[in-house]
Amino acid sequence: MTQGPSNESGASGTAASPAEQVNPGDDAAPGTAGTGEDVCPDCQGSGKIDDQDCQNCGGTGIVIQGLAGG
Ligand SMILES: [Zn+2]
Repeated sequence: MTQGPSNESGASGTAASPAEQVNPGDDAAPGTAGTGEDVCPDCQGSGKIDDQDCQNCGGTGIVIQGLAGG
């Protein structure tokens, strides 16, 4: 076992997408063609479940759903 001088202390990395975040309840990223915002079925649009952020919509109360044509 060698004890090399690790000069790497980078803690800032793996930055997720800055703006467009897809929540578990989203069908696609916001702005995707053929999709639209819909009320989150889990929290009924409140964004909260038992005073906690709804995990389905990320606390937004809105999910992105594919638009069913006709
Ligand atoms: Zn929700």
